[in-house]
Amino acid sequence: MRRSELVLLASFTLGLLTTRDAFAWCRTTTTQGFVPTSEKPCDDTGIPLYWSTRCVGFSVQRDASRWIDLATTRSVAQKSFDAWKNSSCPADPVSCTGSFDQGHPSIEVKDLGPVSCDCVEYNGKVGNANTIVFRDLAWTECDGTPKSDADTTLALTTVTFNTETGEIYDADMEVNTANNPITTDDPPGRVLYDFQSILTHEAGHFLGLAHTNLPQPTDKTKTPTMYARYEQREVYMRDLSNDDVCAICAAYPPNRSAPCDTTPRRGLALECGGGDPETTTKSGCGCMVLGQKPSGLDAVIVGATCLLGLGVVARRRRR
Ligand SMILES: [Zn+2]
Repeated sequence: MRRSELVLLASFTLGLLTTRDAFAWCRTTTTQGFVPTSEKPCDDTGIPLYWSTRCVGFSVQRDASRWIDLATTRSVAQKSFDAWKNSSCPADPVSCTGSFDQGHPSIEVKDLGPVSCDCVEYNGKVGNANTIVFRDLAWTECDGTPKSDADTTLALTTVTFNTETGEIYDADMEVNTANNPITTDDPPGRVLYDFQSILTHEAGHFLGLAHTNLPQPTDKTKTPTMYARYEQREVYMRDLSNDDVCAICAAYPPNRSAPCDTTPRRGLALECGGGDPETTTKSGCGCMVLGQKPSGLDAVIVGATCLLGLGVVARRRRR
C-alpha cells in the first residue's frame, strides 16, 4: 500500500514538471499587443503564425556590415536557420516528451542571394524579400527615423502575416551593429556579442516562435535559444534546447504536407517596393506594432506582431 502511494506521488511530481515544460515555449500569434506574464506566458487567444510552405527564402542586404562582410553574414545566417531545420522532433512536441527521433520539422530556409533593399517592408502589390539588414550607423528605420530601445536591442525581427489565418507573408531581420560590438569569432576566440547566437534566436522569430518563458536554468548552457535575453560573451544560444526543438516541431510537424517554394510573396524583389502605403506604424505594448489595414485587392488584413527583439542581459564593465 505504502509503495503504491510512493509511486503515485512520484508520477505526479513528474507530471508537474512535464506540464511546466510543455508551457515553456510559445508561438507568436495573431493577437496584437499581447504581453506575457508569469500567469499567462503564452497567448492562447490568437492564431499561431506559420509559413505555409516547407521552404522559405532569405536574402542578406548586399552592403552587409562594416564589421561583418556579406559572405560571412550569408554563411552564419544559413547555419542559424539550419539549426532549426536539423532538429530531431519528439513524439509529442506539445508536452515535449517521447524520444527525439521522429524526423525533422517540415520547414527550411534557403539563401536566395543578396538584395539591395535595406528597408523593413512588406509590399502588398509587388514582390518582396525576407531580408537580413544591418544598422551600422544608428538604430533607425531605413529612412533615418530613430527606433526605440537602441541601447538594449541587439536585433529585431518584423513579421507580416494574415491576421485571419496566421500565415506569414514576410519576415525581416535588423541587426543593431550601431550600438553593439557584434562578433563572429568562434570559441575560444574573442566573443563579445555572438552573431550566430543572435541570428539563431531571430531565426526562431522569423519562423513564428515567441520567447520561451522558462526561468533561466542553473546550468545556463541549457538556456533555450528563444530565451528573451542574450548574455554577453556566450555562444550557447547557437544550439537549440529541447524546448526550442519542441516549439519548432509543434509549429511544423515532420509529416506536414506543404510545397517547397522559396519564392517570397509576389516574387523576389531585389529593390525596395515602397512598402504598403496603407500600412501605418504605431507604438504599443512596449514595442512597435504595424497597424492593421486592409491590403488592397485580396482584402486580407495585414498586420505585424510586436517587433521581436533580443535584449542584452547585462553589460559588463571593463576592468
Ligand atoms: Zn527575441
